[in-house]
Amino acid sequence: MSVDGWEAVIGLEIHVQLNTDSKMFCACANVFGAEPNTLTCPVCLGYPGALPTINGGAVDKAIQIGLALDCEIAGRCQFHRKNYFYPDSPKAYQISQYDQPICTRGHLDVDGGRIGITRAHLEEDAAKLVHAGGSGGRIAGAESSVVDFNRCGTPLVEIVTEPDLRSPEQAVAFLGLLKNTLQTIGVSDCDMEKGSLRCDANVSVRRAGEMGLGTKTELKNMNSFKFLGEGMAAEIRRQIDLLEAGGEVRQETLHYDPQARALHARRSKEEADDYRYFPEPDLVPLEPSADTVRRLRDAMPELPAARIARFRETYGLSEQDATDLNAAPEIADYFEAVAGASGDGKAASDWVRNQPGAVGTIPAEGLAGVVKLITAGTITATIGKQVYALLESDPSADPAALVEEHGLASIGDSSELEGMVAEVLAQNPQFVEQFRAGKEGVINALVGQVMKQTRGRADARQVQQLLRDRMQ
Ligand SMILES: [Zn+2]
Repeated sequence: MSVDGWEAVIGLEIHVQLNTDSKMFCACANVFGAEPNTLTCPVCLGYPGALPTINGGAVDKAIQIGLALDCEIAGRCQFHRKNYFYPDSPKAYQISQYDQPICTRGHLDVDGGRIGITRAHLEEDAAKLVHAGGSGGRIAGAESSVVDFNRCGTPLVEIVTEPDLRSPEQAVAFLGLLKNTLQTIGVSDCDMEKGSLRCDANVSVRRAGEMGLGTKTELKNMNSFKFLGEGMAAEIRRQIDLLEAGGEVRQETLHYDPQARALHARRSKEEADDYRYFPEPDLVPLEPSADTVRRLRDAMPELPAARIARFRETYGLSEQDATDLNAAPEIADYFEAVAGASGDGKAASDWVRNQPGAVGTIPAEGLAGVVKLITAGTITATIGKQVYALLESDPSADPAALVEEHGLASIGDSSELEGMVAEVLAQNPQFVEQFRAGKEGVINALVGQVMKQTRGRADARQVQQLLRDRMQ
C-alpha cells in the first residue's frame, strides 16, 4: 500500500504475559489483581544472595509460541542480564535473553503476506509503577509514585517481527491473528486492557519501490487495536509530511495520545547500548530436549491460520467470512457446532457473524434449530429472526416448539396464502389494470400488502409468483 508515492515499513515488538501458575524465576503466584505487594519473595524482590530457578512451565509455553509461529527452537539458549536502573526493577537488571533466544526465524501469514518473526524470547516482567496525585496516572506532574511488585518477575515472551508490515491495517490484522493464535494454544489470555498483550511499533517510510529503510521511530505501548492503528497512521502521515517539506525523521520514542489524537515525544528510560548485557551467572544454559519439543508439537491444536483455510475449503466460505469467524477461538468453535448440527455451513456462517451475541448465550443446537427450520421451509428467513429473538429471552427453548406455540410456521403453498392474494387483488383493481397494461412495477405494492397480512410468514418471491399467475 502506498500513500502519495510513499510506502510504510512497520515492525512490531509484542510482549505476551504467560498464564503460568507461578513467576518466571520463583514460586510466587502469577495472578493479576491481587492486593499490591502480597505476591513477593526474596528472589523477585532482588534480595542479595537469592537465587533464581527457571520455571519449566514458562519454557514449555515459550516453545509452544515458537512452534505456532514456525520458528526454529534452539537446542541451547542462554539467559542474560539486561542492566538498567529504574524503580520498577529491584535487582537493577532484568533477566532476559540476548543473542541466544529460545525461538528464531519463524513467520505468520496474514492478509496475503508472509510476516517474518525475527525471534521470540523469554524474560521477566518489571514491577508496576503507580503515579498518584493530579497527573491522571502519568509520571509527569504526579505527587508521588508507588511500586507494586506483584508483577515483578512474572514470565513474558517478547515476539519481534521483521519490518515486513506495509500498512496500519495489515499490522492490526497481524496482531489480531497473533492474539487468536496465542489464545488457541492457551499460553496467555492476551487481555490488552490488563496488559497481558502489549505492542510497540517501529515505523518508517520510504519512497514506493525503494529497498532501503528510512529512519524509524518507536511507538510505545499501545493498549488497544484501535489506538495501535490510529497511532501508526498518524505517525506515517507525520513522517511523510516532514520528508516532503524537506525535513528529516529523528529516531525517537513516541507516545500516542488517543484523546488528543496526537503523538508526543517521550524520553526513553535508557539507550539500548547502555544495557551492558552479560550472561546470567546464576542460571545454567537452557537446553530444551528434542523429546520436549516433539511432545509439545504433537499436542499443538489446529491453529487459526489452518482453521481459516479449512473453513473456506469445508464450508465454501469467503476468506473474509472465514477470518471473521476466527476472530476468537470461542466464535470458531461455536460456528463449527452450529454448522455441524444444522448441516448448513453457509447459513451457520451468516447467522454467527450477524448475531455475535449468540456466542456463549444461545446453545449451538438452538441456533442450528433455527437454521434447519429455515432450510426446510418451515419458516421464512424473516420469521427466523423472530424465532431468534424469542431464543434470546429463553435460550434453552426448542425453536420448533416456539414456532408452534407462536403460530409462526410459513404459509407458503397453502389455501390461507391463496386467500390473502385473492383478497388483495380484489381490493386493488386499479393495480391489476395497470399491471395488465404493462406497468409491471406495481406488483411490488401488491407483494407488500400481502406480506403485511402474512406478518412475514410467506416468502416474498413466492407471493410475487402467485400474484403474477393470478393476474396473467
Ligand atoms: Zn517471588
